[in-house]
Amino acid sequence: MSKDSTDAAFCMTFQKLAEKLETDLKTGLGADEVKKRLEAHGPNRLRRQKKKSALAILLHQFKSIIVLLLTAAAVMSFVMGDIAEGVAIAFVLILNAAIGFISEFKATRSIEALMHIAEVRTQVRRGGEVRMIDAHELVPGDVVILEAGDVVTADLRLSEASNLHADESVLTGESAPVTKSTEPVDKESALGDRLSMAFKGTAITQGAGEGIVTATGMETELGRISDLAQNAEGEVAPLERRLDKLGHRLVWLTLALAALTIVAGILRGHDVAIMVQTGVALAIASVPEGLPVVATLSLARGMLRMSQRNALITRLSSVETLGATTVILTDKTGTLTENRMTVVRYLLATGDVDVEACAAAEGPEPYSPMAWALRIGALCNNAELGDGSKDSRSGDPMEIALLSVAGDFGASRKSLLEHNPEVKQHAFDPNRKMMATVHRANDGHLFAIKGAPEAVFDVCTKVIGQDGAQDMTDDARQKWIDRNSQAAQDGLRLLALAMKEKASKDADPYESLTLVGLVCLLDPVRADVPHAIEASRNAGVRVVMLTGDHADTAEAIAREASLGDGELSVVESSEIDGFDPKTISEDDRKRILNVDVFARVSPETKLMLVSLFQDAGHIVAMTGDGVNDAPALKKADIGIAMGQRGTQVAQEAADMILQDDAFATIIAAMRQGRTIFDNIRKFVIYLMSCNVSEVLIVGLAVGAGLPMPLLPLQILFLNLVTDVFPAFALGLGKGDENVMTKPPRDPAEAIINRRCWILIGILGALVTISTLGAFACALFWLGLESGPAATVAFLTLALAQLWNVFNVRDHDAGLLRNEVTRNGYIWGAIALCLGLLGFALWIPSLADLLGLPNPGRDGLVLATAASLVPLLLGQAWIWFAKPSDRGDRG
Ligand code: ATP
Repeated sequence: MSKDSTDAAFCMTFQKLAEKLETDLKTGLGADEVKKRLEAHGPNRLRRQKKKSALAILLHQFKSIIVLLLTAAAVMSFVMGDIAEGVAIAFVLILNAAIGFISEFKATRSIEALMHIAEVRTQVRRGGEVRMIDAHELVPGDVVILEAGDVVTADLRLSEASNLHADESVLTGESAPVTKSTEPVDKESALGDRLSMAFKGTAITQGAGEGIVTATGMETELGRISDLAQNAEGEVAPLERRLDKLGHRLVWLTLALAALTIVAGILRGHDVAIMVQTGVALAIASVPEGLPVVATLSLARGMLRMSQRNALITRLSSVETLGATTVILTDKTGTLTENRMTVVRYLLATGDVDVEACAAAEGPEPYSPMAWALRIGALCNNAELGDGSKDSRSGDPMEIALLSVAGDFGASRKSLLEHNPEVKQHAFDPNRKMMATVHRANDGHLFAIKGAPEAVFDVCTKVIGQDGAQDMTDDARQKWIDRNSQAAQDGLRLLALAMKEKASKDADPYESLTLVGLVCLLDPVRADVPHAIEASRNAGVRVVMLTGDHADTAEAIAREASLGDGELSVVESSEIDGFDPKTISEDDRKRILNVDVFARVSPETKLMLVSLFQDAGHIVAMTGDGVNDAPALKKADIGIAMGQRGTQVAQEAADMILQDDAFATIIAAMRQGRTIFDNIRKFVIYLMSCNVSEVLIVGLAVGAGLPMPLLPLQILFLNLVTDVFPAFALGLGKGDENVMTKPPRDPAEAIINRRCWILIGILGALVTISTLGAFACALFWLGLESGPAATVAFLTLALAQLWNVFNVRDHDAGLLRNEVTRNGYIWGAIALCLGLLGFALWIPSLADLLGLPNPGRDGLVLATAASLVPLLLGQAWIWFAKPSDRGDRG
């Protein structure tokens, strides 16, 4: 298999290519051959998805400012002959790297696991059967089956193409879909003219086909031009970037403060070496190094948790946006309803036929309206019932319902097709809202049409009655319109069936038809939907239905789903179709923003509505499943595609994929999104308030002429060991029970807004005051030496910081029962830190090294008592302060 042979695949016949690639078009490749080719060509991936090795992650830990500072401090200790301290700093350095390594390793692996779940799948013919495989397993010579909505997964030479259209804009920039064929094309033709090929990355917009894989992975046209390889290097969420920026800004501020402290200390007569080391330790203390890593870890863990709940997030940044969503534009069928349809009734010229009441055993009279209705419904159909079992059915549930009711009445599609083989199909056209099939009949062709009732009525000139076809008068048409709307008000979904007989199969299918009747389908609202809609209402998130269905059906379903606030406002899309979000009048805009249900909407209207809501300051989540929904999904802040029902094109455009297609999953994901954001905010507040207090304590003590309250190693110990665990625990919390009873966060708001800064300042100040207070008491009241007094200060600070986690609880949660006290990790982290502090105090060699002489029982009592002050005052402040002054979401 030389490269040339596949390069020129477009200009040879597909039979010849199949021969060259040693592929049997009917059976596809065998398992052994696939294995061989996979080894020769590698997986079908664009980027070499190198797993980030553990070593690379480890080395990454040593590229940070902290490590540089620590190394400098260690070297300085060794140079000054303080070997023990040098070793201790080296130890802290290693410990810090270990913590960083473990968290980054976990985050990276979580993200890789998610990428694996999101892998695209593709239909192939292998070993004589058709099956779904992961797209990366494709090899040259494989036979791939294509249908509308698929994203092509490798370069293919087409061997079958029925009405096959592809959008190749990713490769050619040309946005109009190209009609494909199996005929070879000229050798000199440019990429866009190679109609006999389907290229990786392009989207099938219409029709169906099959093709032989000619190239995979980087060998494909997309692979050659793609710069994806560089771009895909791990996406960094904006949140992480913002945290990183925040960290960098703080570095300069604190370096300046540290420098000031050093100078002040030296002027005050402190030892120069000690002061320099203290400065270094303070600088280390204040670099919020852990922030981005903990953020990634919480995001990644949250994404994994969401995927276990059937919501697959494809972009890390979406987690953040989810929590800020203010409006959900949802479709109806399959998202709010079960998409399990049953035919309940036929409305015919001769009267209504209730399917259940009708004796299924006796088929209707051969040329009665009922017989025609069953027949047209089964002929104008793309679904398959398989062996009748649930799993073997495939296709649109509406069409499955039509097939199965016809089967029940003895009109199976197979037997119908034996009499009237299908010769042509006009795929469902979303603009005309109709589809048609053409069948050979005795003396010409039978056209079978089904579609949205209004659309079909418009093109019918006759209607079938008991005695054959009669003219469709204006009066009659109006009656049909009324019958349609009456049935729709019961929440039934209606389709009109029509037919005609013509000599030529190429006649226009949507002209001069004979109406057969209406079929009513029942698609029940999902049981959990009313509850989920209620939940989103409580969370301050509006839910708006955009449906392609009839206004009356949509309204009835919306009521059942308990949409809207009592009053339900329903608008037909035709009323607003021409609106332009840029020029729309203020009145119209207001009116549209208050609508609960938009019926008969087209994909263009969906896009317009997304813009309109966004212009009004909304963060828009939108669901969609069709190829045409892709632009609106991309435009929405959170595009949501359906995992089961959605096309690959929609999934590719989306930020979130609902694997169970259920509306309630969106609400569950929003809850997670809000929780993650809250968690990140909490640990940022926590870590920063700890850092602020350390800098303030040393700075103020030096400024006030007191002895040093904290030694450099102690600062390192607090910062790199004991602060970290509670912060991590906060990042992993399950969140506040009430998170979905609050309005969404203002999307423009910074992670650390003004209120957070105030909280950081207050908590930092409280810890500082109590630590310095305890230090002063130890010196002047208990009369301790400066050494044991420093131990009191150290201990006060360490304990106060631990208790401080309880101060970052939500202001409206209970004092004792809140998301922090319910978080098991927090208690674990506190126990661990207390143990570590115990070691530091009571293991003599460690106490020596850290400079922690025993302060005696009084000292311990003083430290413990003082450490509780910030907790008590903090809680009192949370209790009394107005909500608007607190750091939480208000
Ligand atoms: P939703 O937007 O809630 O999923 P929908 O499925 O009704 O609702 P569309 O897919 O846009 O929305 O379809 C619009 C209308 O076109 C349907 O209400 C139906 O009347 C008609 N229709 C849909 N699919 C077919 C089909 N395969 N054949 C014929 N008519 C169809």
